[in-house]
Amino acid sequence: MIVTDLSNSFNPVPKNERKKNKKLIDDKKHDCEYCGKKNCWTNKHHIKSKGSGGDDIEENLIELCGACHVKAHSGEISKQELLKIVKRRKRKWKHFLRFLL
Ligand SMILES: [Zn+2]
Ligand SMILES: [Zn+2]
Repeated sequence: MIVTDLSNSFNPVPKNERKKNKKLIDDKKHDCEYCGKKNCWTNKHHIKSKGSGGDDIEENLIELCGACHVKAHSGEISKQELLKIVKRRKRKWKHFLRFLL
């Protein structure tokens, strides 16, 4: 089998579906909160894993691009670093204080 369009394998939405789902795609594109990469595919990462009691709260979630997400899981990016970024989200500082207490 000859693969003619490799780019397809990197996009979860098939070409003919993209237009229809433009809103959906736009909603899923974010800036990586760690490296600052703009408009990329990000995933919410649990700073404290759900397995160790992490909650689905904003203070425990960070938008990471694929590369940073892998680093976060391998330990190359420490939890402390991620928590610092979360802390910097100024408008949510009150919630963060609550998280600390
Ligand atoms: Zn990144
Ligand atoms: Zn993750």
